[in-house]
Amino acid sequence: MSTDIKRKSAIVTGGSRGIGREIVISLLREGIEVWYLSRSEGLPADELCKMAEAPSGLAHWVNCDMADAGSVEEALSTVLAQTSRVDILVNNAGITRDGLIMRMKDEAWEDVLRVNLTGAFLTCRKISRVMASQRTGTIVNISSVVGIMGNGGQTNYAASKAGLIGFSKSLARELAGRSVRVNVIAPGFIETDMTDVLPENAKDSLKTQIPLGRIGDATEVAQAVAFLCSDKASYITGQVLAVDGGMAM
Ligand code: NDP
Repeated sequence: MSTDIKRKSAIVTGGSRGIGREIVISLLREGIEVWYLSRSEGLPADELCKMAEAPSGLAHWVNCDMADAGSVEEALSTVLAQTSRVDILVNNAGITRDGLIMRMKDEAWEDVLRVNLTGAFLTCRKISRVMASQRTGTIVNISSVVGIMGNGGQTNYAASKAGLIGFSKSLARELAGRSVRVNVIAPGFIETDMTDVLPENAKDSLKTQIPLGRIGDATEVAQAVAFLCSDKASYITGQVLAVDGGMAM
């Protein structure tokens, strides 16, 4: 529990691995206390503090299934029992269930929308109340270039990620009067468990669509998130920042 009144507090969904873990580490590095919500802890929270060269006890894992509204409510209540303020909310948890639409099962559509879009709605609904009453705060939602460009075989994922963009712009307008900023990061092709499943030839063909000619690293997304969460981005709200090596320009 934070005892320093000036220390900032953050909630990150899906911080157990991949991009989310790097986001947790980059916020810890800024001296921010972080609660990360996922179904598994991944590396122990104190290991993340060590990696960030932050004091131990600054990171906290909270078990949460973003597909389950009751679990999200319980996890956020657990966090709010430990910190009276939330300066940063990052909605990063996301899944894919790819398939062509003609063969897509209802569950593949519903699971992806539930975790990627409804999950963000649930956290934003609860935490925007906290931020509005603080009259400060910043929210970053992790979308994807697929939400901008579309991608065959990912109608469900693209719908969830495009939905996040419209959702975030609307929320930015709702909360601006309370000095709460809301922005979106749209990563391109980033090396994580999510993209590990692709065969090498698919990766090579994807690389040809990236002007910078390489797959991105999760730390490169995390740095952009840390920037949008910082006071350096104090006049930026309602924006979509692509971190994609130029893929979606
Ligand atoms: P990973 O599959 O590596 O990690 C996904 C994270 O989300 C994990 O921490 C996982 O935790 C969490 N998560 C998944 N389902 C749930 C759930 N039901 N409840 C709680 N947490 C959940 O993905 P990435 O790091 O690659 O992706 C992170 C975000 O970035 C996602 O939103 C993704 O769509 C987006 N993105 C990724 C790109 C890429 O190329 N990698 C490109 C564009 C966007 P756990 O399993 O422990 O619950």
